[in-house]
Amino acid sequence: MSDLEHRDPAIFEAIAAERRRQMTTLELIASENFVSDAVLEAMGSVMTNKYAEGLPGRRYYGGCEFVDVAETLAIERLKQLFAADHANVQSHSGASANLAAYLAVSKPGDVLLGMSLAHGGHLTHGHPVSYTGQLWRSVQYGVRAEDGRIDYEQVASLARQHRPRIIVAGASAYPRIIDFERFSVIAREVGAALVVDMAHIAGLVATGLHPSPVPHADLVTSTTHKTLRGPRGGFVLCRREHAEKLDKSVFPGLQGGPLMHVIAAKAVCLGEALGKGFGAYQRRVVENARALAAGLLEHDFDLVSGGTDNHLVLVDLRRRGLTGKVAEEALQRARITVNKNAVPNDPQKPWVTSGIRIGSPALTTRGFGDAEMRRIADWIAQVLERPDDAERARAIEREVLELCARYPLFARDPVLR
Ligand SMILES: *Cc1c(COP(=O)(O)O)cnc(C)c1O
Repeated sequence: MSDLEHRDPAIFEAIAAERRRQMTTLELIASENFVSDAVLEAMGSVMTNKYAEGLPGRRYYGGCEFVDVAETLAIERLKQLFAADHANVQSHSGASANLAAYLAVSKPGDVLLGMSLAHGGHLTHGHPVSYTGQLWRSVQYGVRAEDGRIDYEQVASLARQHRPRIIVAGASAYPRIIDFERFSVIAREVGAALVVDMAHIAGLVATGLHPSPVPHADLVTSTTHKTLRGPRGGFVLCRREHAEKLDKSVFPGLQGGPLMHVIAAKAVCLGEALGKGFGAYQRRVVENARALAAGLLEHDFDLVSGGTDNHLVLVDLRRRGLTGKVAEEALQRARITVNKNAVPNDPQKPWVTSGIRIGSPALTTRGFGDAEMRRIADWIAQVLERPDDAERARAIEREVLELCARYPLFARDPVLR
């Protein structure tokens, strides 16, 4: 019996049940992944016990010599992976990385031009329910109705009209390549700082499968837990000229003590990203998203922008007469996990929506390839043809369980060969 099982059976059982859920469902949430055992081990380590306010070699606490090793490695690996001048690895999450970046180069009350959540952006890019949309004067751009691509003409004209202090590029539900160079030309013209949030695509950027924002942006923010396949957390990269302001913005501006166990796990994940196997993994992520898109198109689904260049597809269910909520719940009954997601100009409320977002990173980690993604597209089509048909959901659930059993999670790591 483990110590946790003995001392806190309720939490032990919740963790065990979550583990079983992960093993026996098809995880298609585009922002999720499964970390390596090494990342998990670092995260569950004694480094959680250490206070380490400050930066390596310049701490406000004694006894930091070993956490300094971990943080220095995380910083050096991150700079190498993305060819960045400067890196700060202390942000607790993607959202706090964004706040730290904004506050490094602007003040509340300034104008911030970001991508609308309804068009694929993130809450923290200036949505009214986020403090980023309340503390900054938020102006929002989106995608073109015709082709679902970012409307760069609109970005330019809004920038000229509102003279933002910050332009934010990056998205949570955008299946295409983002032209960071074009954003930087617009930012330079109006004297704005360009912040690129690559939370979703960091793994693709690290392996050259998406053009890097680093040469074009003043600051680049990210999470570590999406395509990058690390612990839950954030980081910020920047040009040398912003380094001091950025570090002060993260601490003491926004945070207290850094999560040293998570920073150690970030270092492990970044080491994995620099090592063998990671490039091949990211290529399979993109191929698998493409296979999923091709399968869904064969079943006559509408995809926003018609397909994908990256790790996700956005399905527009309006022509099917379905909402995202109904589709998400129906698929869940067959153990297929996706999330409802607004499509551009969605007539439905945010908790209903007209779309679902489907991503390939987690199942690619599990070892799935083209053939499995095609089967999943078939199952999605079968479920969504008759979303109320419990019999059909049960039949597909049996097939899902059989497929999950053939690709055991946590037993081996197909990414790190
Ligand atoms: C996921 C995401 C975030 C937020 O990350 P959290 O760790 O959940 O705070 C920020 N920006 C984008 C584009 C994201 O996709």
